Amino acid sequence: MTAPYLEKLNPEQRRAVEYGINAAGGAPGPLLIIAGAGSGKTSTLVHRVAHLLVNGADPDRILLMTFSRRAASDLTRRAETICTQVMGERAGILAAGLPWAGTFHSIGVRLLREYAEQIGLAPDFSIHDREDSADLMNLVRDELGYSRTERRFPAKVTCLEIYSRVVNSGAALCDVLNESFPWCASWEIELRSLFAAYVEAKQAQGVLDFDDLLLYWARMLADPVLAEDVGGRFDHVLVDEYQDTNRLQASILLSMKPNGRGLTVVGDDAQSIYAFRAATVRNILDFPSAFDPAAAVVTLDRNYRSTKPILDAANAVIGLAKERFTKNLWTDREGRQRPELVTVRDDTEQARFIATRVLENREAGATLKQQAVLFRTASHSAVLEVELTRRRIPFVKFGGLKFLDSAHVKDVLALLRFAQNPRDLVGGFRVMLLVPGAGPATARRTLEAMATAADPIAALGRLPVPPRIGGEWAGLVTLLATLRGGAAGWPAQLEQVRGWYEPILERLHDDASTRLADLLQLQGIAAGYPSRERFLTELTLDPPAATSDEAGVPSLDNDYLILSTIHSAKGQEWRSVFVLNAVDGCIPSDLGTGSTREVEEERRLLYVAMTRAKDDLHLMLPQRFYTHGQRAKGDRHVYASRTRFIPREILDHFDYLSWPGSQGSAPSSSASIGPRIDIAAQMRGMWR
Ligand code: ATP
Ligand code: MG
Repeated sequence: MTAPYLEKLNPEQRRAVEYGINAAGGAPGPLLIIAGAGSGKTSTLVHRVAHLLVNGADPDRILLMTFSRRAASDLTRRAETICTQVMGERAGILAAGLPWAGTFHSIGVRLLREYAEQIGLAPDFSIHDREDSADLMNLVRDELGYSRTERRFPAKVTCLEIYSRVVNSGAALCDVLNESFPWCASWEIELRSLFAAYVEAKQAQGVLDFDDLLLYWARMLADPVLAEDVGGRFDHVLVDEYQDTNRLQASILLSMKPNGRGLTVVGDDAQSIYAFRAATVRNILDFPSAFDPAAAVVTLDRNYRSTKPILDAANAVIGLAKERFTKNLWTDREGRQRPELVTVRDDTEQARFIATRVLENREAGATLKQQAVLFRTASHSAVLEVELTRRRIPFVKFGGLKFLDSAHVKDVLALLRFAQNPRDLVGGFRVMLLVPGAGPATARRTLEAMATAADPIAALGRLPVPPRIGGEWAGLVTLLATLRGGAAGWPAQLEQVRGWYEPILERLHDDASTRLADLLQLQGIAAGYPSRERFLTELTLDPPAATSDEAGVPSLDNDYLILSTIHSAKGQEWRSVFVLNAVDGCIPSDLGTGSTREVEEERRLLYVAMTRAKDDLHLMLPQRFYTHGQRAKGDRHVYASRTRFIPREILDHFDYLSWPGSQGSAPSSSASIGPRIDIAAQMRGMWR
C-alpha cells in the first residue's frame, strides 16, 4: 500500500522522492531535479526529506541547504508534519528539527567553528556583514593612502564588489576587471595590494566576511582527510535553488560528496538571478559530468501554482529568452483573468492603486498576507510605504534596508560583537566613537594598543585616555569586561548594554523613544537564541525583515501585506501579486543593461516575479518615475515606457487597465509636479 503522502505526488515527483531510498538504507546515487517555477521542486524536496526519515534516516546526518533561514525552517516543519501523519506517535523524530538545515553560509560558520583549531582559525571569529566589510576595506584603503590618490580610486563598495567577484568566481583579478569593472582596470596593481592588506587585516582581527565563510570552507575541504571527515558526517545532502549557487558552493559539494552519492539538488535555470554575485547556472547543467554521468535527472513540467493565463504570460516572457533549458510548463488551473498591465500616471498613483486593490481583495476574502508587492530595488517601494502607512495598512518588507541596518541597532550589535571579539577593529571603532568626546585618534590608538595585548579588555582598562572623556569611557570598560565575563548570562546581557547605551542614544537622536522601542524588540529577538554567539552569527547572516507598521512590528499572527524585492521573493507564492515599475529603466534596471548577459538576467527576474502569483497578477506601468525612487528636491523624473520584456508580440497575454480611468478622474494633488502630460495620447502610443 502506498503511503498517503506519496499519493498526492505526480509520477515524476514521486520518482524523485523515492529515488534510491529503501528501508535497507545506503546512500542513493546523485539526483538532479530541474524544472520550472511552481512545479513542486521545493515540495518534492520536502517529501524526499520526509521519505528519508520515514525510512529510518538519522536527522543529524541530513544536510539541507536552502535559500534562507526562513525557507529552511519552513521545509523542516513541513517534513515534520508528513512524518507525524505517517508515523503517529512514533514521530517526534524531528522534535529537535533538522539540526543541519540552513543556508550555505550558516552551515559554513558552524563547521568552521567546529574545525577552527585544525585549520588555524580562532574559534570565536566574528563575522562581518557587507557594510562592516566595506568599512574595513575603507580603513585599509586609507592606511595605504589610496583614498588620497590624484586620480579617484574606486569607492570602497566597488573595491569590495571586485574582491567578492574574484573570490566567488575563482577568476583572475584582471579578467574580472576587464569584464565587469573596466573603469577600474588601470588600478589593478593597487587593488591587488589593497586586497592583500584587507586579507591580512581580517586575519589579524579574527574576522571573516561573507565570502570567507565559503572560501575557508572550500579550502578546508581541499584537505582530503578533512573532506572525508566532514563529508562523512552526512548521509544525505539536499540543496534547493541550485541555480543560484556559485563555483565555490559547487566545489564544496564536490569535496564532500565526490561521487555524488546521497546528493540531491534542485533548480530552475530560468530563475537564475544571482549571476551578479558570481552564481552560475552551469552548476546545474554540469551536474552529471561533475558528479556522475549516470546521475538521475528528473524534470517536472506541470505547474501547480498559477492559473493558466498567468502561466501563459510568464511562459511568453521567458520564451523570448536567448538561452534556456527547461521546457514550458502547463497547468490545469483554469482562470478567467489575464495578468493586468496597469497604466498609472506616476508612483503616487501607483501606490494609490495598489493600496485600493489590496483593500478590495481583503474585502473579497484574501488576507493581506496572501498578497505581495514586488520590486526591483528596495528604494522603489518608498512612496508606497508612505501610502500604506497613511491608510493604516500594515506591511512587512523583505530585502533591502533591514531593521538591523539602523544605526542604533548596529551600535548595540557592535558592542556585543566587540565584547565577543575585542580585536575586531570595525566593531571597536564604532563602539568607541559612541563615547562622547572620543574621536577617531583616540579610538585608533586604543585599538592598536589592544591588538597587541594578551588580554585586550584588561589592557583597555589600563590605557590612558584624554581627561575630557570621562565617566562614559570608564562605564564602557566596565561594561565590556562584564560582557566578556558573561556573568549576566544570555539574553540578560542585552539589558546591561541598554543601560549603558540609553543615555547616549538620547543625546544622539531626537527620536530616541522610537529607537528605544527597537532595542526592546531586539531583546525579544535575542531571547530566541541560546547564546550571544549564535545570536550574532544568525543575525548577521540572515537578518529579520524591516517593518514600518506604525505600532511597531506586527506580531507574527497579525495580518500584513508583504513588500519584497524580487530577489527576496524567490521560492514563495501569493494569491495576488503586484509588480512595481514594470518599465524600462526599472526592469531591466538602468544598471543592468550593460551586456546581453545582464539583460537576460533581468528578464529572468521578471519571470521570477510573475511566477510568484497564484490567482492574479498586476504589472504596474507608471508613465513617469523618479530617478531616485523618492521625490526629493532635485530628483528628476523620466518618462517611462513598458518593459522591453513585454514586446508587442506577446501583448495579447495581458489585459490593460488605465487607472484611475481616463474619464473624469479628479486631478490629484501631485498635479503640480512636472509639466502637464497628455495621458490619453501616451496611452494610445503605448500599445502601438
Ligand atoms: P519555485 O520555482 O518558485 O521555487 P517550486 O518548483 O519549488 O517553485 P513549490 O513551491 O514546491 O514549487 O510548489 C508550488 C505550489 O504547488 C505549492 O503551493 C505546492 O503546494 C503545490 N504543489 C506542488 N506539487 C503538487 C502536487 N503534486 N499536487 C498539488 N499541489 C502541488
Ligand atoms: Mg521552490
